Amino acid sequence: MRALRARRRRLASGLSDVEALLRGTVVTQGRRCGKENCRCADGQLHGPYTYLSVSRPGRRPRLVYVPAELTETVSGQVAVAARVETVLGRVSRILGLGRGRHRRCMIGMT
Ligand SMILES: [Zn+2]
Repeated sequence: MRALRARRRRLASGLSDVEALLRGTVVTQGRRCGKENCRCADGQLHGPYTYLSVSRPGRRPRLVYVPAELTETVSGQVAVAARVETVLGRVSRILGLGRGRHRRCMIGMT
């Protein structure tokens, strides 16, 4: 049990971008390696690999590579974050708060 917890901690510390975890969506994509005579040049892409797609206002989403052993953890985190976002959105609507103001409230609370 302790070993499991240590393992989980190690995995979590491998995740560099906490922001990404909270507001990403998990996507899978095949990749071309760029070598001319590789099978991927004929459309047999490598992968699929898992990425966390992080949307940024006014810019193209950033793709963060998710190693296979972290896929489950990240998917879980994203699902939780999405639920939290939904609930927070509902609460702030009920309270009649604008989104910007709501954000500031949250920061004040932490
Ligand atoms: Zn290739």
